[in-house]
Amino acid sequence: MLIHSMKLLVSLGYTNPKGGNGSIRVDDRRILITPSGIPKHLLKTDDLVLYDIINNSYIGKYKPSIEVNAHAKTYRVRNDIHAILHAHLPLATSLTDIGLENWWLAGTVEAEYSLGKVYVSEYAPPGSLELAEKIAEGFRAGAKIVIVPRHGVFAGGKDVADALDSIIALESTAKYVYVKVVVEELRNIKNKVLNGST
Ligand code: 13P
Ligand code: ZN
Repeated sequence: MLIHSMKLLVSLGYTNPKGGNGSIRVDDRRILITPSGIPKHLLKTDDLVLYDIINNSYIGKYKPSIEVNAHAKTYRVRNDIHAILHAHLPLATSLTDIGLENWWLAGTVEAEYSLGKVYVSEYAPPGSLELAEKIAEGFRAGAKIVIVPRHGVFAGGKDVADALDSIIALESTAKYVYVKVVVEELRNIKNKVLNGST
């Protein structure tokens, strides 16, 4: 399911092949996480890295994702989260970056049923401990999705399907808001032209 979701995120254009990552909880202290830098649409099950969130050791052919600290810290603060997906969503990230606040509260059905609490973190560089702390802070505050400016989103779910559903619901809502804003702006421009005020 994790491998399939990563392929789907790349094929939807929701993350570039080398971007994004995902993990699932195996037991109280171990997770399986995608390896760093391997194209996410080509991943195989035995490429996954078994990572210990208590002592930060790992077993695998490759190094774990550079965002492993964000995943590990989130699992440590939220026992109810069993899967995390990270994707570089183009519209959800850009609507946040232009300063539109709470744009996900647009009243779409998918937002109502699939999003839960959305939290916007401050920017910190990809893979940094600072970013990991900001993401875990969002999840500690009860978020289902944390949006990182100029980067993308982290979604935590009860399983991979749940995290994937939130990510797709967020980007669908972003598309809905984007189309509405653009069409309303075009309508305003058209009305000004027709009224001869430009
Ligand atoms: P990894 O391939 O190391 O998971 O990095 C991708 C990414 O999106 C970092 O933010
Ligand atoms: Zn990323």
